[in-house]
Amino acid sequence: MTEIVKKKQYLKIKKETPRKREANKRKVDFQPTYYLFSKDEADTQSLRCIKCPIDLIKGMESEFSFCRTGCPLENKIPIWIEHVRNGDIKSAFEASNEISPFPEILGMVCPHDVLCQGGCTIAKTESGSVTIGAIEVYLNEQAFKMGLKPDYGEKREKVSKRVAIIGSGPAGMSCATFLLRAGIEVDMFEKSDRPGGLLTYGIPNFKIKKDVILRRFAWMQEAGMNLHLNTDIKDSAQIKAMLDEYDTVFVGLGAPSSRGARMENEHSHGVYHVMDILKHAQKRVFEDFYESILEDKNVIVIGGGDSAMDAVRTAVRMKAKSVRCAYRRDQKNMPGSQKEVVNAKEEGVIFEFYTAPKKVIIDKGRHVQGLLCQKTKLGDPDDSGRRRLEIIEGSDFELECDVLILALGFDNVEFPWYDDAEINTAKWGDIIVDEEKRTSNKRIFAGGDAVRGADLAVTAAADGRRAALAMLKDFGLTL
Ligand SMILES: Cc1cc2nc3c(=O)[nH]c(=O)nc-3n(C[C@H](O)[C@H](O)[C@H](O)COP(=O)(O)OP(=O)(O)OC[C@H]3O[C@@H](n4cnc5c(N)ncnc54)[C@H](O)[C@@H]3O)c2cc1C
Repeated sequence: MTEIVKKKQYLKIKKETPRKREANKRKVDFQPTYYLFSKDEADTQSLRCIKCPIDLIKGMESEFSFCRTGCPLENKIPIWIEHVRNGDIKSAFEASNEISPFPEILGMVCPHDVLCQGGCTIAKTESGSVTIGAIEVYLNEQAFKMGLKPDYGEKREKVSKRVAIIGSGPAGMSCATFLLRAGIEVDMFEKSDRPGGLLTYGIPNFKIKKDVILRRFAWMQEAGMNLHLNTDIKDSAQIKAMLDEYDTVFVGLGAPSSRGARMENEHSHGVYHVMDILKHAQKRVFEDFYESILEDKNVIVIGGGDSAMDAVRTAVRMKAKSVRCAYRRDQKNMPGSQKEVVNAKEEGVIFEFYTAPKKVIIDKGRHVQGLLCQKTKLGDPDDSGRRRLEIIEGSDFELECDVLILALGFDNVEFPWYDDAEINTAKWGDIIVDEEKRTSNKRIFAGGDAVRGADLAVTAAADGRRAALAMLKDFGLTL
C-alpha cells in the first residue's frame, strides 16, 4: 500500500476522456464520434492508475469495488495499464487479450462508467476514474499497427474435438476465441449475411467501426474456424445432426424480438421497430447503393435506452428533417448512457420528456401523421426505489411526424427446436443454464442475450468464455 500512497499521480494529472468530433461534422456521416487516445494521452492517463493490489486483497470484493471486479470478464486491468505506462505495448497487448476475447471492441462499446471505471478506486475521489476503456483501445490498436496478432491457437497442436457454435454475436465470438486457442476445431453457423451479431448490425458505426469487428473474424478464419453464413438453424433435424457430428454445441442466438408499444394503430405505414432502422443504416456501411428511408421525414423515436439513442442519432445521419425522442420520465431517469443523450442533443435531437405515447394518428391510407401523447409525472417510489409513473389525466396532446420508431427493448424467442434438443427455458423464453453455462442438455451450452435477455456485449463475451472453459474441462484440456 505504501507505493500507492507515494504515487498519487491522479491528484496531479487531470482525467481526460477521448476527444469528440464536432457535432456539425460528425452528424453528416457514420464515422466514429470519438478520436482514439494518442500515445501521449494514453501514457499520461495510465500514470493515474494507483495499481490496487487486487491479488493481495482478494476476498474483500464485497466491501470494496475495483476495476477488475467491476468487469464481467474480470479483466486484469491494472497489469496491462502498468505495461502501457512502461511503454511495453507487446506485454500490454498479451495481458489485455488473455481474458478479454476482443478488448479493442469492448473498449469502445462497454458502459465503462458503471463497470470497470465505476469500480476504479479513484472513481470515488474528485479526480474521477482512470479512463480504462480508452487506454485499452489505444494499446490494442497500437499493437495491431506493430503487426501483433491475437492468439487463436495457431501455434497449438490441434486436438480431435469439434464444437458447433450457433450465432456469431459477442457470445459466439468469445466462445470460438477460447476454443480455437486450445486447438479445438470450430464451426460457426450464422443466419445473417455478415458475422458479428448486434456488433455488426445493431450498434451503429459511429460507436464501433464495422471493419474492427470483421478484422476479428478474418483472424479466426485464418486460424481455421469455419464460418457458415446465411445458415439459419431453425429445426430439430439440424440440431440433432449437429449433436451427431460435434462433441458439443454453443447457442448464442441473442434476444431478437423487438417489443411493441401496445397502442392503437401501431401496425401502420411509417411505424418501424428500432432494429429495422439500425440494420438498414448499418448496411449502408457495406453497400455502394443506399437510399435513406428517413430522408426529409419528421421522425419520433419512442424510448429512453441506448437503442433509442442509437436510433435518434442514426435518424439524424439518415437526413431526417427533424428528430424527436419521446420518453415517459425525465433525463435523469433515462436507462441509457447519459453520454449518448448529450451526444444526441449536440446533434440536434429534441427531447420530449414526461411524454407517454397513447395512439398513432394515421390518415385513411394508414400512413402515420403523428403521435397522440399524454403528459406524465413521477409519483412515490415503488419497492425497487424507482419512482412510479403517473399519467396526468386530460393532458392529451399531439406531436406531428411521418415516421415513428419503437425502441422499447427486446425479448427472447423460444425456438421450437429447444424442446427436441431438451433445452429448458424460463418464463420469457430465456435459456436456463448453470454456472458453467451448460443447459439442461449436458452437451449444449448457451450464453449472451439468449440466456440473460437483452444485456451487454461484455456479459455475452463473459458467458462465451465461461462456456468454452467448461467444454475444455469436459475434454480434459486447459488453455
Ligand atoms: C441498438 C443496440 C445498441 C447496443 N449498444 C450496446 C453498447 O453500446 N454496448 C454494449 O455493451 N451492448 C450494447 N447492446 C447490447 C449488445 O449488443 C448485446 O447484448 C450483445 O450483442 C448480445 O450478444 P449475443 O451474442 O448474445 O447476441 P447477438 O449479438 O444478438 O448475436 C446473435 C447472433 O445469432 C444469430 N442467430 C440468431 N438466430 C439464429 C439461428 N437460428 N441460426 C443461426 N444464427 C442465428 C443472429 O443473426 C446474430 O448474429 C446494444 C444492443 C442494441 C440492440
